[in-house]
Order: sequence, then structure tokens, then C-alpha cells
Amino acid sequence: MSQYQDTIARLQSQGVHSVLVQFCDIHGVAKGKLVPLTNLREWVEQGAGFAGPSIWGTGLPRFGARSEYYARIQVQSLQPLPFMPGVAHAVGDGFAGGQPLDTCSRQLLQAAIERIKSRGWTLWVGIEPEFFLLRQGADGAWKVGDTHDQLDKPSYDLKAIQRNQGFLEEMRSTLTELGFELQQIDHEDACGQYEINYKFDDALVAADRYMLFKLTAHAVAQKHGLVFSAMAKPLAHAPGSGLHFHLSITDAQGKALFADASGSLGLSALGHQFAAGLLDHGDALSALCAPTVNSYKRLALSHSASGTTWSPVWKAYGDNNRTCLLRAVAGRLEWRLPDASCNVYAAIAATLLAGLDGVDRALQAPEPCDEDLYERFASGAPMPARLPRDLFDALGALEQDAVLRGLLGHSFCEQFLRLKREEWDQYQQHVSAWELDRYADGF
Ligand code: GLU
Ligand code: MG
Repeated sequence: MSQYQDTIARLQSQGVHSVLVQFCDIHGVAKGKLVPLTNLREWVEQGAGFAGPSIWGTGLPRFGARSEYYARIQVQSLQPLPFMPGVAHAVGDGFAGGQPLDTCSRQLLQAAIERIKSRGWTLWVGIEPEFFLLRQGADGAWKVGDTHDQLDKPSYDLKAIQRNQGFLEEMRSTLTELGFELQQIDHEDACGQYEINYKFDDALVAADRYMLFKLTAHAVAQKHGLVFSAMAKPLAHAPGSGLHFHLSITDAQGKALFADASGSLGLSALGHQFAAGLLDHGDALSALCAPTVNSYKRLALSHSASGTTWSPVWKAYGDNNRTCLLRAVAGRLEWRLPDASCNVYAAIAATLLAGLDGVDRALQAPEPCDEDLYERFASGAPMPARLPRDLFDALGALEQDAVLRGLLGHSFCEQFLRLKREEWDQYQQHVSAWELDRYADGF
């Protein structure tokens, strides 16, 4: 039997008849289609076909050979989806005209990974998904799904965990079946907000897993009459949803290259340089790690109903210091900029490239910060430089950062900047309920 026939037979014995070919558009949204399992060779070698211009950010033309987008699946990613009986999930890379597509963010990440593979290194990423469970009322208004979830300081609320045990337990069992190694489930610091943590993995697997996490959470939430939301900040006065990346690099022998117990912050010289690269490119990274208009409402200075936002905007790093953009912890770096709505492939790729640039240029990081930056801010003392205040400025910073744009590639950045500027323009022209309430009869 050929390799494909073996795989087909194995999956058929598990009741699978179809493959959900999934790829990721430039906004980080999972897209795809259902195709028959029996034609597996075609989906792997040629790809499942889609109309290229119908997918955000491909940059493909409306006619000719290159107008078709082909998602070529990774055969090793095939696994039955517990919430879609008869269907196996597979991750795909974008191709057009028989060539890899340079606007495909999964391949952008693979290209970034190649840059450290060639040094014999591996990037490990522990992704920490925070999310809300919402409901849309008959009047169209979005609300926290659990109407009893109303504490002023809701972190670690056990009553909410008990009330939402149905959803949380189904997430646990489904993710475990899908190969996630779960570490913890808790109620986060906003009403209706949870965090589910699972074991870190190499960068590409970690990114693929976050896509599968979202797919699972959408399906499970729907079964429980809820809406899974990866929006950065759905509630005005509460913290938003971060997607922190815990970063570490190992060499070919498995030695952790960021860690040095005797070094400042427990980091090696390489760890400090990597951190310096992240802080140096922080403004441009905002565009990719915090890519929506709403993302900048999460990246607020400090206040929230629960006391703080935990999403600092100051370009600083410190020892286990969550008031800085970058936290050194146990010989790793926790990059606190990304939010749950980012394109995880592009965000990890950009983060890796920025950190490596810090290493290659042996950049000097700023003095570590050993104070509570929220308190410092409240005291009126001078602060470290801050991130862009909105998407418009972040996009401008990406445009200005020729080094990062060069590393990410022209085609991807061109598509990304164009679409995101359109998004900003639409937002700018929108008149919100806040404006009407404040100004309509106010003058
Ligand atoms: N929800 C916070 C954020 O938006 C992070 C909270 C935490 O430190 O886990 O980044
Ligand atoms: Mg958290």
C-alpha cells in the first residue's frame, strides 16, 4: 500500500470520510473546505483549490493560472476532529501557479524559522490564549454569556468555573483528544474571560495549535449556547485578551540559550540581545501582534474595573515584572504584546525576526526595570518609551521599519498594510454610540 493508502485506511477505520483542509488568511482567520479523504494524494501534492482573490490578503489576480489558491495539506497534521464526526482536520500551506505563495503567513513563519534552523537552533513558544465567552442578545447587543459573572475582581472565580463546567470540561476533553497537553484552566481578570494553558511546542506546531484551539473553542462554545471571542477587548472597563508568547531557544544539544542562572534577570547575553531586538522593533511589531483597531483599547495605560489591565504599553523588561511589555521568567522571555486577535503565524514570525535582529546586531537592551510601572506612571515620573497609541501609528511604524519589513518580505507587508489601512479608514469614518451620547445634544 502507498503512504497515502495507509493513511486513508487508518483514518477510514476511525470513521473518517472527509478532510477539513484549513489554512489561515492574512487576518489570522481559519478558512478552508471539506474534501473527500479518498483523494488525499491530490490534497497533499496539488492542494485543494480556492478562488484566490476571495481570500483576504492573498494578492492573487482575478484571472489566469495564478488566480487559484491551492492549500497543500501537511499529511502529518491529519487527525479526526472530535466535534465534526467523520471529518479529519489538516493544516495547509498556500500555493499559486505551482509555487509557494509569499503572502501565506504559515510559510512566512517557516521562512523565519529557517533562519534559526540554519544556526542549529529551535524556537519554542508557549502560547497563552485568553478569551471571552459572550452571547448576542435579541437586540443585537453583545453581553457576557454568563449573566451571573459579575465580580469586581473576577480572577480565579471558582463559582464561574462551576457554572461553566460544561463548556470547560468539553474543551479539556476535546483538546486532549487533539493532542494538547493541558496545564491549567482558569477564570481570568474580566467577567466572562477565561484562559486555557497547554504545553509549549516548537514555533510552527505552537502556531498550528492555536488555530486548532480557536476552531475547537468556536465549536464547543456554540454547543453550549455561547460565543467564543478572541477579540482583544470586548468590555470597555475590563482587561482585554492577551496572547502572551513564552519564548525560548535551544541549540542542537537542547541547551536553553536564553537561560543563565548567574546572569542579570536569569538571562544569558543572547537572551538580553533577543529582548533588545523585541523592544527595538516594538512599535512595528505592534502592527502584527496587536493588529486591530480594538487592540489598542486593550493596550491601555493601567486602569480597569479589577485594578489593572495587565497589558503594559511601556517598552521595558524586568524580572518577573508583568508591568513591563517583556517579562523575564525562569530563563525565558514572556512577550506580552500579542493579543488574541492576531494572525499567530505572522506575529510569531515577526517576533522571531525582531529578536534575531537584536542578536545579529548585538543590541544593548535598556536597563532592566525593577519597579511597578503602573505606580511609576501614577506618580508622574518619566516613563520608558511607549508603544503606538493606535493602529494607524502602529502601521506607520511598520512602514518605517525597513529592517523588519525586509525580513518579513515585501508582498506580505504590502497586502497587510493596505488591508489594515482600509480597516483603519473604515473605523475612522464610523460614528460610535459614545460620540452620539456625548455630542448629539451637547452643544
Ligand atoms: N489579560 C491581560 C492582557 O491583556 C493579561 C493578564 C495576565 O497577565 O495573564 O494581556
Ligand atoms: Mg492570563
